[in-house]
Amino acid sequence: MFREIGIATTHCNFCGTWGIVALLRTTERDGLRIIEACETCWRATGNAANLLRLVRLGKSPKAKATPKKPRKPRTGQPERVAPYQGPSKHEVGSLVPLAEQHQP
Ligand SMILES: [Zn+2]
Repeated sequence: MFREIGIATTHCNFCGTWGIVALLRTTERDGLRIIEACETCWRATGNAANLLRLVRLGKSPKAKATPKKPRKPRTGQPERVAPYQGPSKHEVGSLVPLAEQHQP
């Protein structure tokens, strides 16, 4: 992976244009390499990354299941919850804590 990012003035590795470039330096473990590219070409690599992301999401079954997620929250044990037995909700302010229910 890359471990460093910097700025230099040299030829772009992609299009060969001379000028200010941003450079990425790889870790030495992976074999030291420096990739230098101009702004236009780095933006193009961003588009390429987005394309790969689309392909990945299109292939992933988990990603396809994502739109199904917004369902009803947990259905676990709704029966255990006792029905409300306090005074009418119209008589109690909304900021009054339900202290009795929190005591052991
Ligand atoms: Zn370039």
